[in-house]
Amino acid sequence: MLSQKTFTQFPGTSQRSLHELFLQLYADQQLHWPMLAGGVAALHNVQTRTIDCGTFSVRLQYNPKRIVSSGAKVDAASIQERKCFLCVGNLPPEQQGILYKEKFLVLCNPMPIFREHFTISHIDHIPQSIEEQILPFLSLAKDLSPHYSVFYNGPKCGASAPDHMHFQSAPSGMIPVEMELLGHARIKKNLNGITISSLDRYGRSVVVLEGKSKQEMELTFLRLTSVLRKTMKTNDEPMMNVIASFLNESWRLIIFIRSKHRPAVYFKEGEERVLISPASVDMGGLVVTPIEKDFRSVDAPLMNEIYKELSVSEDMLNTVIEKI
Ligand SMILES: [Zn+2]
Repeated sequence: MLSQKTFTQFPGTSQRSLHELFLQLYADQQLHWPMLAGGVAALHNVQTRTIDCGTFSVRLQYNPKRIVSSGAKVDAASIQERKCFLCVGNLPPEQQGILYKEKFLVLCNPMPIFREHFTISHIDHIPQSIEEQILPFLSLAKDLSPHYSVFYNGPKCGASAPDHMHFQSAPSGMIPVEMELLGHARIKKNLNGITISSLDRYGRSVVVLEGKSKQEMELTFLRLTSVLRKTMKTNDEPMMNVIASFLNESWRLIIFIRSKHRPAVYFKEGEERVLISPASVDMGGLVVTPIEKDFRSVDAPLMNEIYKELSVSEDMLNTVIEKI
């Protein structure tokens, strides 16, 4: 089954870069898979609007097709009942992907937030875990640089398939935080060549790790998750969204530390309900609103409130960084 679904492999015999293979797959799948062609065409009709939140701004995207993801039921019972849409055997007949290092299949996302939106799915049905998969995550960021960033949504932080390990990728700079980082980053400490920063006046709890050694990046990241487990008194993976990139010979992980999956307004009834279900892209400043009413009405106070509600406190973030 996997061989039927493999468009090409990386590394392969062709010597082409992973970026070139991504573009080839994207073009080929648009020709042969009408659902993807429809999703890409629908991107021409999405509307955007920028909200000034004082010390930062948020870009809203009205994208009706994303209702499937934003409205997804991700509780254990609903997940168990449905057929996993990332398992190789359940992919649509037309869908193919790039087999990455024999472990992941790079697939085109048929309900994209931006052009060239990919889902990078593990070939096995294993649960979402960034701690187990941090090394392939860093490898992908390097192999896709400088063209794409890779991101991860925790099982309770926006992943619509929490039971099936996957990353996503976006063209570099598409997620606003990547461009805004410089103006907000404050270095907190250096640890074995890894710089640890937080973002000031950004309305969210964010830790940024940067460094040239892959091994030290891995160790520092795992130290962070271990401190978070202890601080939050949980055995589960700490709630987070992570965006990885590789620039100037250094890795960079932008980590949104979360206290909650969905904001209170998500669960309100009728007109009061606001269908915003933040994952990496939304925490990074591009907020998807599948409902037109929400796109028109969301304002700066509400966005500030949502970010605050989903983040941990500044005190807690500082304590965590101190303990790394
Ligand atoms: Zn699966």
